[in-house]
Amino acid sequence: MNSSLPVQENVDLAPLLTLRTPAQARFYLCAQSIAEIRQGLEFARARDLPVLLLGGGSNLILVEDFDGLVLHLGLKGVTYTPQEDGSCIVRAAAGENWHELVTNTVARGYRGLENLALIPGTVGAAPVQNIGAYGVELKDTLTRVEVLDRRTFQCRTLTNPECGFSYRNSLFKTSDGQHFIILAVEFRLDRSRPLQVGYGDLARVLESRGAEMTEASVMQAVMEIRRSKLPDPKLIPNVGSFFMNPIVDCRQFQHLQQQYPQIAHYPLHDGRHKLAAGWLIDQAGWKGYREGNVGVHDRQALVLINPGQGRGSEVIELARKIQRDILQRFGVALNIEPVRVPGD
Ligand SMILES: Cc1cc2nc3c(=O)[nH]c(=O)nc-3n(C[C@H](O)[C@H](O)[C@H](O)COP(=O)(O)OP(=O)(O)OC[C@H]3O[C@@H](n4cnc5c(N)ncnc54)[C@H](O)[C@@H]3O)c2cc1C
Repeated sequence: MNSSLPVQENVDLAPLLTLRTPAQARFYLCAQSIAEIRQGLEFARARDLPVLLLGGGSNLILVEDFDGLVLHLGLKGVTYTPQEDGSCIVRAAAGENWHELVTNTVARGYRGLENLALIPGTVGAAPVQNIGAYGVELKDTLTRVEVLDRRTFQCRTLTNPECGFSYRNSLFKTSDGQHFIILAVEFRLDRSRPLQVGYGDLARVLESRGAEMTEASVMQAVMEIRRSKLPDPKLIPNVGSFFMNPIVDCRQFQHLQQQYPQIAHYPLHDGRHKLAAGWLIDQAGWKGYREGNVGVHDRQALVLINPGQGRGSEVIELARKIQRDILQRFGVALNIEPVRVPGD
C-alpha cells in the first residue's frame, strides 16, 4: 500500500449514506486533490479492484458490502467571476456542499439555483442525475463540467450539450459516461433572469405570503415547503424520492384519467403526461406502511425510509413490492431513482 496515501481498510459506510444502510468498503480514500484521485485510481488498478465514487451519499443504495475502493470526492473551492453583461460565472469543486453553494449564490444576489435549495449532497454528484426541483433543473444554468477520465487519468471539459441532460438523467449515468469523475461544475448565473415560481406548492406559498419576489424569498419558500414535506435524513434515514415520476403516452393517460379523475399529472410538450409517482403510491395505500426496519414515509409516499437501519436489500425488497403493486393496479411501471450498487 502507498504509505503516503491515506487509504483506510474495512470502513463502515453507514454514516456516509443518508439511508444509513450498513455496508463495508474494503478500501476507502477521501481524495482532497486531483493528484490523490489519480493515486487512488492507480491503487485500485494495481489490485484490479472496482472503484465507487462517493459524494454526500444521498442518492446511493449499497445493496451489499463493496469489495473495492470507495473514492470519496473531497475537492473544495468556489470562485465567482463577474462578467461585463452583469452575469457571473460560478465554478465549484466537486466536494462542495450543494445547499451551501445555493445559499452563497443567493446571498450575492445571483439567480438560477434558488429553486434547488436544500437538496442534499455535493456539487460533483449534482450533474449525475441532473438534479431538479420546483420546475428547475441543474441543466438550466450549468455551462460546463470538468472531468477526469478514469481510463486515461486525463482531465477534460464537457459542455452542457455534451452532458446529455434529461429528466433525472445524464451522460454520467450511461456506459459512455460512467468513466468520468466530475471534478468541478461551472454555472452562469445572473441578477435578472425570470424567477421560476409557477410550480404547484411554490406558487401557493409565495402567493399566500404576498411578499416581494426575489431569489431570496423564492429560496426561503422552497426551504419551508421542503422542511414541511420531506423527512430530514439525519433524523429519519432516506434517499429522497425513491421513484422517478413515470411518463405515459396520451392514450394511457386518458384511460387512467377516466378511472381516476383526480390523478396528479403534468402535461409535457410532446403530448405525453408525467404522472406523480407519489400520488399513485399514496392511492394504492402504501403511505405510512412499515415492514421490519423499513417503510414508506407517512407524509410523503414517494420517500422510502429506513428507521431501523436495515440493509440495502431490505429497502430494495420493499421497493419491488411497491413497483409490482403499482404495475398491477395502474399498468404503470415505476423506475427506482437512486443509484444501486451493485446495479440490476
Ligand atoms: C431528503 C432528500 C431530498 C432529495 N431531494 C432531491 C430533489 O429534490 N431533487 C433531486 O434531483 N434529488 C434529490 N435528492 C437526491 C440527492 O440529493 C441528489 O441526487 C444529489 O445530487 C446526490 O448527491 P450526493 O453527493 O449525495 O451523491 P451520492 O449519493 O454520493 O452519489 C450519487 C451518484 O453519483 C455518483 N457520484 C458522486 N460524486 C460523483 C462525482 N464527483 N463524479 C461522478 N459521479 C459521482 C455516485 O457514484 C453515485 O452513482 C434528495 C435526497 C434526499 C436524501
